Amino acid sequence: MGLDKNMPILVTGASGYLASWIVKDLLEDGYQVRGTVRSTKAFAKIAHLTKLQEKHPGKLDLYEADLMKPGSFNEAVNGCQVVIHTASPFFISKIKDAQKQLIEPAQQGTRNVLQAVNDSDTVERVVLTSSCAAIYGDNIDVELVEGGVFTEAIWNTSSSLSHNPYSYSKTVAEKTAWEMQKESGKWTLTTINPGFIMGPSLSDRTDGTSVTYMMQLMNGQFKSGVPDLHFAVVDVRDVARAHILAAENYRASGRHICVSDHKTFLEFGQILKEEFPKYKLPTKVAPKWLLYIMGPMMGITWKFLNKNIGYRLNFDNSYIKEDLGIKFTPFKKTLIDHANQLIKSGLIKEKG
Ligand code: NAP
Repeated sequence: MGLDKNMPILVTGASGYLASWIVKDLLEDGYQVRGTVRSTKAFAKIAHLTKLQEKHPGKLDLYEADLMKPGSFNEAVNGCQVVIHTASPFFISKIKDAQKQLIEPAQQGTRNVLQAVNDSDTVERVVLTSSCAAIYGDNIDVELVEGGVFTEAIWNTSSSLSHNPYSYSKTVAEKTAWEMQKESGKWTLTTINPGFIMGPSLSDRTDGTSVTYMMQLMNGQFKSGVPDLHFAVVDVRDVARAHILAAENYRASGRHICVSDHKTFLEFGQILKEEFPKYKLPTKVAPKWLLYIMGPMMGITWKFLNKNIGYRLNFDNSYIKEDLGIKFTPFKKTLIDHANQLIKSGLIKEKG
């Protein structure tokens, strides 16, 4: 069964890095789209959405909604056939109060959005942006799973309010969504669980974690060495497409690990160095003793270093390919396109 293109699809957190691509692709596919943003008066933050409104007249309506305000999603949700819920705070440093900054907006926010879905007479399907962070917490966790490979059957049990709180927030938010879906039975749920998302941004915003990370890499912040950290990675455009395929395909079900490849931080630098030889990219791994001295000053605990440095991740991405038919972009293209977008936007300053 296909979607009725006259009925709107809602994307929460529409101004975000990932959501902006979902909105753009939906519009290009001819859908009527609604997006929630925290403020329609935050003109700089939503400038790229305003441009999309001009390009697709009458096809994109923006609504104000805050994850922490019960009822604030009701108006945007009512009348939609599908809700794609991406809004959730994503940051892993400078956390002062994890409960208030991460857990409550992620979990209570999911409750508020899904309560609006329960209250509507129209929503048939919800696609939730979860994360691989709801599957594992520390890289060392891979050694505890059968066969040393993460699958959709696995849940993060190692994160907590005090250790990897972002990962904890994604775990409790996804669990809440599954519980609410089971209680309601009125609508279906499927989740997309991306690894670390990279690739070009549609806006010049620099406050998102993926964008910040890429800028630090290109701006020379790690030129003297990078931690030996391993990532499960994926292109932002593929993650957006996965959400749309999951919305359209009513037979698609369950959780979907959305990972194209696995790379170390050093490999990011090496791939980029080949294409951008003049930039101060990392060419070596930082010694562990240095990380133990520097880490705490940057808010990185010894516990995190002990459980992550040097461990290699392994995700099985076969289900998303089979269930949604997704084809992944090669990671080299993802990185190069992202770097080119930042250079073109004038967001990368330092050259060698
Ligand atoms: P992002 O650009 O920071 O987007 C987060 C979005 O959530 C923004 O639109 C933000 O609104 C919204 N938001 C945060 N707190 C809110 C609140 N209290 N009320 C309403 N909206 C709020 O980050 P992203 O990378 O695109 O993340 C999007 C989703 O993907 C999140 O669910 C994240 O957990 C998930 N994810 C991301 C990655 C990754 O590597 N980037 C990997 C796996 C999963 P503002 O625009 O107003 O700030």
